[in-house]
Amino acid sequence: TEACLEAIDAADALNAFVHKTPEIALERARAADARIRAGDAPSMCGLPIGIKDLFCTRGVPSQAASRILDGFRPEYESTVSQQLADAGAVMLGKLNMDEFAMGSSNETSTYGNAVNPWRRGNDDAQLTPGGSSGGSASAVAADLCLAATGTDTGGSIRQPAAFTGITGIKPTYGRCSRWGIVAFASSLDQAGPMTRDVRDAAIMLQAMCGHDPKDSTSADLPVPDFEAMLTGDINGKVIGIPREYRMEGMPEEIEELWAKGTEMLKDAGAKIVDISLPHTKYALPAYYVIAPAEASSNLARYDGVRYGRRARLAQGDGITEMYEKTRAEGFGPEVQRRVMIGTYVLSAGFYDAYYNRARKVRTLIKKDFEDVFADGVDAILTPATPSAAFGLGKMTDADPVQMYLNDVFTVTVNLAGLPGIAVPAGLDKRGLPLGLQLIGRPWEEGDLLNTAYALE
Ligand code: GLN
Repeated sequence: TEACLEAIDAADALNAFVHKTPEIALERARAADARIRAGDAPSMCGLPIGIKDLFCTRGVPSQAASRILDGFRPEYESTVSQQLADAGAVMLGKLNMDEFAMGSSNETSTYGNAVNPWRRGNDDAQLTPGGSSGGSASAVAADLCLAATGTDTGGSIRQPAAFTGITGIKPTYGRCSRWGIVAFASSLDQAGPMTRDVRDAAIMLQAMCGHDPKDSTSADLPVPDFEAMLTGDINGKVIGIPREYRMEGMPEEIEELWAKGTEMLKDAGAKIVDISLPHTKYALPAYYVIAPAEASSNLARYDGVRYGRRARLAQGDGITEMYEKTRAEGFGPEVQRRVMIGTYVLSAGFYDAYYNRARKVRTLIKKDFEDVFADGVDAILTPATPSAAFGLGKMTDADPVQMYLNDVFTVTVNLAGLPGIAVPAGLDKRGLPLGLQLIGRPWEEGDLLNTAYALE
């Protein structure tokens, strides 16, 4: 823990940790020492980790990287961060992210962006660690902590994991409690671990999962021993290669990476089959209707009264001015854009044309997956991202749709509620990490982790 705290101080330039909690960390580390001495060490006893700023942590700033939550210190602890503490993990602090988890580059954060510890060859240009869990990815990749929590609504665990050469799994929707995690799009949000390798992911996911009566969508299912399922044996497993993910203009190195991953699984004894997920091309548009719709509703609670910040008001201002001024100065431009899109697609005149339509498309996407799983496919292999990490500032001034296109391989998994894992799979020509994604059957994270283990 002390070594991590020193490393964090020395790596301020990465801007990964936005609130450090050394007192809490040292106290928990001492408690962990005592448990180890007493021969009563739980699974993550004494392991120093970082917590994404989206998780409410008791008495510690929990701002979802937003100005509107300035000064907010929750009185309660999210279920997942509590479970990690119960498993003995030591919280070092809170990690940078995109504001309210909206973004793919960590550049919408009120704290400024986190930085990817990787560099492009001899080039000094700073790269994005990805987003929204950019601080988590940067911190794990730079060895500032052993692991970190992330959340994934449309790719926010898997894309930053791929951009920084680490492992990240989004479990089946309902596996981890959402209680105490600041809500973005409630029907898509899931927490998950971001770790150095698959074994760490299995151990940490184990601690994060489980039924929670405080989240009505949390599944009341037994959680298998994920680590015990890492046998590396995938003989006879059927791996689907979806043809719709072979996008036009896909860089050659992504194609090569995908082919290499396919070969590795085949060499390990898996059976490779071509599959079709015909509604894939509608996933991104459906996601960018559904996610903002839910966000606009979830973010209505930031009204200047209940949480965090209230704008300075002028003489004669009433409640409407208070809402308007608080939300105008508290939310950054991307969040405001999402609230406006969401409000628009939910409005009486457009609800059927956009929101309801997107929900129908979502059902079709889910059915695409159900069909291939019913045909015997055990897991699906795709690239995790359409490129390696891009330069910071590169997309900020561009059309926001350019940024949204980054999520093309990841959003289908959230729309269908499935587990998905990104694992490092090699380097591109400039020496930057690239990731592959495996998508599994619902509730079969153990199998999925084992398949990913074979790719390691
Ligand atoms: N990049 C996607 C978005 O901006 C996904 C974010 C996430 O998974 N939280 O919505």
